[in-house]
Amino acid sequence: FMLLTKKLIEVRNILMSIDHNEALRLPSIVVIGSQSSGKSSVLEAIVGHEFLPKGSNMVTRRPIELTLIHTPKSKEEYGEFPQLGLGKIHDFSHIQQTLRDLNLAVSESECVSNKSIELRIYSPNVPDLTLIDLPGYIQVTNKNQPETLKDKIVELCEQYIREPNIILAVCAADVDLANSEALKASRKVDPLGLRTIGVITKMDLVEPEIGSAILRNTDYPLHLGYIGVVCKPPTNRNNQKNITSALMRHEEQFFRSNYVYSQRGIQVGTGTLRRKLMEVLEESMAKSLFSIVGAVQLELEEARYQFKVQYNDRRITAESYVAETIDSIKHNFKDFAHSFGKPQVRHEVRTMLEQRVLDLCAELYWTDSKIVDLTKASADDLYWQYKLDMSSAALTKSGIGRTSTQLVVDVLMANMEKLASMEPLNNHPDTSSKVLNFSNEILRNKFHTTADQVENCVKPYKYEVECSEQEWADGVKRSIILLEKELESCDKALRHIRNTIGKKKLRAAIKYVLDAEKEEAKQHTRLHFNPKVLERAREAIFLRDRSMILKYRLAALKSRQCKSPESKQYCPEAFLNMVAEKLTYTAVMFIQVELLNEFFFQFPREVDNRLVYDLDRKQILTFAKENPHIRKHLELQERKRKLEEVMEKLNYLVRRQRDIEGRKGPA
Ligand code: GDP
Repeated sequence: FMLLTKKLIEVRNILMSIDHNEALRLPSIVVIGSQSSGKSSVLEAIVGHEFLPKGSNMVTRRPIELTLIHTPKSKEEYGEFPQLGLGKIHDFSHIQQTLRDLNLAVSESECVSNKSIELRIYSPNVPDLTLIDLPGYIQVTNKNQPETLKDKIVELCEQYIREPNIILAVCAADVDLANSEALKASRKVDPLGLRTIGVITKMDLVEPEIGSAILRNTDYPLHLGYIGVVCKPPTNRNNQKNITSALMRHEEQFFRSNYVYSQRGIQVGTGTLRRKLMEVLEESMAKSLFSIVGAVQLELEEARYQFKVQYNDRRITAESYVAETIDSIKHNFKDFAHSFGKPQVRHEVRTMLEQRVLDLCAELYWTDSKIVDLTKASADDLYWQYKLDMSSAALTKSGIGRTSTQLVVDVLMANMEKLASMEPLNNHPDTSSKVLNFSNEILRNKFHTTADQVENCVKPYKYEVECSEQEWADGVKRSIILLEKELESCDKALRHIRNTIGKKKLRAAIKYVLDAEKEEAKQHTRLHFNPKVLERAREAIFLRDRSMILKYRLAALKSRQCKSPESKQYCPEAFLNMVAEKLTYTAVMFIQVELLNEFFFQFPREVDNRLVYDLDRKQILTFAKENPHIRKHLELQERKRKLEEVMEKLNYLVRRQRDIEGRKGPA
């Protein structure tokens, strides 16, 4: 018969899951009282279970929003913490422990917090009610508690005892009502006592005449009256499971033994209290119905409007977002795979080997003081023949397999990192690192076979490198280009030094360095130059010499002497370049087949296997909400959906309420 309360509690729970907007608040019963007034005992008597944490050390530090849901068709009794998602908890001592933990999460120094704990209890033995348990008022703070604690509790309670809530003011019968903090607080916001119910606990501790006088409420009248209860369960409890029956029997015996308590106008007993709460809440819900309909209507209109304006009424699902994201990851990868083929790999490997050729030339030829004699050396000069063999070996035996494979792996990984840091993966850090991990894994798995294959196939070059006229000519051409580039950067570096230090000063410094080399003993002018300048001067000397040698070598490469492969020992740069090109060709061929193609084939499959396969609904939602735009979109959509659901329920209730009033009315 309390259908409205039941339905509106459902509505309230839905509204609580979307926001804590004041306007969308449905009335609830707020329980206030001083510490030890018996607040917890009253709540437990209503629920029929011991479930509140107890102890002397301020155990209620946060509001508990307790929703009782009457389930007449089920024997099951359990609690749920919707914010924690722990599922059904059948053991009430477990609920008690959880509440204790949640309260203790508020630090001793903070002491109370306004972050409420939501708890729902489903049982055939509870009425449909929403109750809010608040920290008890305290008289004095102990030394570990902040001075302001008293005020903080008062403030917190004030937030909750506003309209349309009903105030359950718990006072102990053995304490003068004039001192009741609960009544003082309620009088401030509800001076006529229109929405305050007084609960007098511990009736067993006062003489019946005193007890009945309190309940008659002549001194501090409340419109809804006072109800006396005895909530101390008898000590010899054998039915631990449900405390209600034992408690009520004990209470009933007590009130029955004193005739004053059966007089008219006196309300006693937990049963009476429960009924009263249900009635008052139902009435209050009925009063709130129309205002809540208005508020929900407004919210719904706003949500619909926003949904239209921001998203053009486009509905999305987390699932479709996941699918789109995976598609776009694959798509981006495909784009990259198309742009990174044989020519790009060749470019990478060739650049690396050309650099190595330059290093070898510099190390073995350009720093050799005999280099100017090379063009005039006889064809069977062992010195130069030996040099050429050495430099060729240094190139072919330098572990081309590993280095070229590693190079391509590095380039691929660098590109994967770019992919991982752009849309859509930039919104999903975990997925992004997963992608990088399995990319790396695929490449690692292919690394050794690829490197070995390359190494095996370049083996012949370690003994002999033959080449055609054409290949030779290409080698010459490329080495000219390379040396010209090298020369250019040499000159550029030289110019830079000259510009930063100044022509004159540099010239003097160079002279000084050269002189100093000649006669090291003469140190008298040393202090004229700053060591940094001397350092640059030495660099300049090196660059100048290098530039000279490069010009000289370029002339040689362009001369008739270098026109044919027979004269390879006179043109080591061309020869080494020709070798490098052959190595590049071989390496690229195997890297392409063994590494690149395999990677491009496996990556999309791993995306399916590791990112999509076996995602559950919750993971899909979490993933989608990692993207802030999608999160906002989904949340607004969800809000709108829930408001629509609420509106539908409310419309039904409004029609029903009108029917009831219509029947009561003029007819
Ligand atoms: P709270 O601090 O307001 O939650 O108070 P509790 O519910 O923890 O009760 C404080 C103390 O009063 C406990 O020791 C209870 O057993 C006791 N108590 C509660 N209700 C009654 C009652 O009706 N009669 C008697 N005699 N003691 C009670």
